[in-house]
Amino acid sequence: MTAANNQASRYDPAFANELYSIENGHYIKQCMQCGLCVVTCPARHLMDLQPRKYFKAIQAGDRDRVLKANTPWLCTSCNLCTVRCPRGIPIIDVMHGMKLYLAQKQGVKSAPGALFSKTFFDVMLKRGRQWEAWLTQMYFLKAGPSAIKDALKMMDVAQPMVLKRRLPLAPAKTIKGKSQLKKIYEKAAALAKEGH
Ligand code: SF4
Ligand code: SF4
Repeated sequence: MTAANNQASRYDPAFANELYSIENGHYIKQCMQCGLCVVTCPARHLMDLQPRKYFKAIQAGDRDRVLKANTPWLCTSCNLCTVRCPRGIPIIDVMHGMKLYLAQKQGVKSAPGALFSKTFFDVMLKRGRQWEAWLTQMYFLKAGPSAIKDALKMMDVAQPMVLKRRLPLAPAKTIKGKSQLKKIYEKAAALAKEGH
């Protein structure tokens, strides 16, 4: 295959159209590449593709880069980019739509970040609150031996947080409406499966 053919197969307009049809995906077409979202984003230094480049890759139909990027999984839903975007793109909602698309397409184990999101909700639903110490343990155990090595490397961050009570070792108190919260979560999951 020639270099020109390789380039041509890398960019697939059908893939771009597929993503425009996911929940809130049509907004991606409106991105004018100004970069305001990037300068605003607190997670930009951790993302494989910052939001502007991520949307550009989608517009170009660059399947490989989009499917491999950790961008939506590292979006903290802080909403800062959304209030600054001159095109009024609800970036946070686009990221949520992408997470759902990726989790359905790639499965929870292989989509980067999906396993963390699932563990986050599993732990949170136990008490209706998050318990970060348990969340991190569960996540690293599920993610496998290489992730446990990464966890050990972060002990220098975890220890001061424990000492300053920012990472409580004791479980959080259970909320009163835990069963209702679970029902809301299950209903939302069912709606997502139906494609709403
Ligand atoms: S701020 Fe909006 S228009 Fe500008 S690059 Fe980001 S998403 Fe695109
Ligand atoms: S909502 Fe997500 S993409 Fe937007 S600024 Fe916050 S972390 Fe970045």
